[in-house]
Amino acid sequence: MDLTAEYPLNELLIGGTEINYLFICPTKLWYFSHGITMEQENEWVDLGRFLHERRYASEEKEVQIGGIKIDFIRKGDTIEVHEVKLGKSMERAHEMQALYYIYYLKRLGIKAKAVLHYPKLNETKEVTLDGREEEVEEAIREVQRVKSLPAPPEPVKSKKCKKCAYYELCWV
Ligand code: SF4
Repeated sequence: MDLTAEYPLNELLIGGTEINYLFICPTKLWYFSHGITMEQENEWVDLGRFLHERRYASEEKEVQIGGIKIDFIRKGDTIEVHEVKLGKSMERAHEMQALYYIYYLKRLGIKAKAVLHYPKLNETKEVTLDGREEEVEEAIREVQRVKSLPAPPEPVKSKKCKKCAYYELCWV
């Protein structure tokens, strides 16, 4: 579903995935933002897609509003942005991505809140922008800084690397 015409975009900022990756690993953000995509080869991503499709089959998914693509939305008094995630180990990254979407929609004059879904855990988490705009703006600036680097930031090994699609680029 493309709601771009309904909510015309004034300005493309950055992608929600880039905000997400900033909080997972700046090296990953750099690779991704330079067009190096290996996600399709990663079984964890495939599992996430499978869960997403099955559990939320009745929702209209992949909603495009301007420059952002949201897993699905529900319309009421306030727009609800819904993001489906596999597990909570990257919860901070998920939350910042959701905050970025709400921030972005606010700039288009759309009042929104977000709900993170963790179907494997049967949990949801509501996210609102209240008092957190500066946090988002700082993250946007940091994404822009990392993207502008001439080479990827030095990788830092962590337990996140095991499930990362870029593992071979960093460590093999
Ligand atoms: S393998 Fe580790 S260091 Fe490399 S991009 Fe992935 S998370 Fe970052």
